[in-house]
Amino acid sequence: MATCIFCKIIKGEIPSFKLFESDKTLAFLDIQPLSQGHALVIPKTHGEKLADIPDDYLTEILPVAKKLAIATGANEYNILQNNGRGAHQEVPHVHFHMIPKPNVHEGLG
Ligand code: 5GP
Ligand code: ZN
Repeated sequence: MATCIFCKIIKGEIPSFKLFESDKTLAFLDIQPLSQGHALVIPKTHGEKLADIPDDYLTEILPVAKKLAIATGANEYNILQNNGRGAHQEVPHVHFHMIPKPNVHEGLG
């Protein structure tokens, strides 16, 4: 979609720090990270909500988010995905947040 910022990131028209790319999936750092390593994982086809994205584009996303979480070394993290403005979706292109938490609980038993 021509006006979509994430489609522009996919096409390289807007710069991003890419973490992973395949034919169907792109992962990159969030521009306003909630924590160090906050990543977004998106399908490389435009759709606003999960229901708009073919399943074969969705199946790769969770394994990619899992591997990124492991790569950060975080023991704790959130995977979040918002659908619709009322659900706090700001960018109308499906995306999964992977938000690592600092390892503050390490050594506390
Ligand atoms: P939402 O609220 O839609 O679930 O989250 C959208 C996310 O996209 C936000 O965390 C925001 O910081 C991120 N974002 C918005 N525009 C850009 C951009 O141009 N580049 C990158 N890397 N992230 C963006
Ligand atoms: Zn898009």
